[in-house]
Amino acid sequence: MFEKIKTNVSKLKESIKDKDVTIVCASKYISVEVMRYLYSLGITHFGESRADELLKKKAALKDLNITWHFIGSLQSNKVKSIINEITYLHSLDRISLVKEINKARIEPLKCFIQLNLANEKTKSGLSKSKLSDFYKMLSSYDKIIPVGIMQMGVYNNLELTNKIYKEAASLSQELNLKELSIGMSDDYLIGIKNGATFIRIGSLFTK
Ligand SMILES: *Cc1c(COP(=O)(O)O)cnc(C)c1O
Repeated sequence: MFEKIKTNVSKLKESIKDKDVTIVCASKYISVEVMRYLYSLGITHFGESRADELLKKKAALKDLNITWHFIGSLQSNKVKSIINEITYLHSLDRISLVKEINKARIEPLKCFIQLNLANEKTKSGLSKSKLSDFYKMLSSYDKIIPVGIMQMGVYNNLELTNKIYKEAASLSQELNLKELSIGMSDDYLIGIKNGATFIRIGSLFTK
């Protein structure tokens, strides 16, 4: 298992070598032992999708200098418990969440606005038409620093994924946002081609 992980990390790093892209390990599928091993291979950014898992894993790995991200959709009632435990949030997608965060967060938080450009019913994220007003509204909340756009790939559809990643990149540029969180195990090269600065990689590590 660990040999395989090592090979996969080498391949991943090789394929993005000269690009300025941060690999965030989407760690929902793996144990703290595997996270510890990934850390020893130089993967220091981890993103959790569930609040209770984040707290558990962070406590178990507190001896490591990990940068913690929250990448899953965040329920308002979970904000208080985790919002001061992370450096990046990838799933800012509604005003009620913004208000909740602004109340609970101590330092300003780097946030990605999550879009749902393919309008997938099973996924969260703002539609394109709501982005501009949402973004303007954020300036009234001092604990929110919008740093970029996050968009998920569409499962088994690289063509559509390419189209929406490209669109995410151009919307991000229009708003003058620096970061772009696009790219997962199956489509990270498409993310990088379209200007990703963060990729969120899960299943690839243990494949
Ligand atoms: C799980 C997850 C990923 C990683 O998906 P893989 O296809 O396993 O790489 C990326 N982003 C989010 C929000 C996730 O929940």
